[in-house]
Amino acid sequence: MNTISQRLYAIRTEINTLETAADRPQNTVLLLAVSKTKPASDIALAYQAGQRHFGENYCQEALKKQQHLGAFNISWHFIGPIQSNKTKDIAAHFNWVHSVDNLKIAQRLNDQRPDNLPPLNVCVQVNISNEETKSGLALAALPDICAAIALLPRLKLRGVMAIPAPQEYFEDQRQPYQQLRVAVAKLNGLALDTFSFGMSGDLKAAIFEGATIVRLGSALFGSRG
Ligand SMILES: *Cc1c(COP(=O)(O)O)cnc(C)c1O
Repeated sequence: MNTISQRLYAIRTEINTLETAADRPQNTVLLLAVSKTKPASDIALAYQAGQRHFGENYCQEALKKQQHLGAFNISWHFIGPIQSNKTKDIAAHFNWVHSVDNLKIAQRLNDQRPDNLPPLNVCVQVNISNEETKSGLALAALPDICAAIALLPRLKLRGVMAIPAPQEYFEDQRQPYQQLRVAVAKLNGLALDTFSFGMSGDLKAAIFEGATIVRLGSALFGSRG
């Protein structure tokens, strides 16, 4: 056993415990292992311990690691801010994008998704705490962008992602996720199935509010220094 496999086991156990506490079935929350700044060898260790979904924030860094890990059956998730000049690589080399926050980027990803690949899974990132410095669009803009993305044939709109402002207490952590969940429930006819909610500091609140993907990095791979 190495440290990464031990941490992975502990995280999976914690997620299962929280699923039960939230009255949710087991294994309904997917762990996304956020591997930004970490070497391909760390990803390989987590993979050997059963982890299949990995999240990356920087396109060029991710592509380099993907070259080393070509033989692995990994689902790659892009979770960082998206510059226009990176959409071609993101569309070609990822299975998921969590950080779509404007229609122009969605259209570019759609146009550049290679025909031989299935539609790219996307989440719209919502700036749920209205922080000036954060990525994501305003909650009020969510219905229009979702309706527009749903019409793009090379994208598959799966749901929403949010990173709320940090809060100390459980009830305060739940509130923004609940607000977003209620807004998503009002979007008719889109069949969304994904809430990319929750990081290490608010895992319990996220799972209690319906997270289907939680994103953990340093808890698994160690601090980024
Ligand atoms: C880095 C990052 C994470 C993981 O953060 P840790 O503090 O390493 O757990 C999760 N989500 C997003 C969008 C990130 O950029």
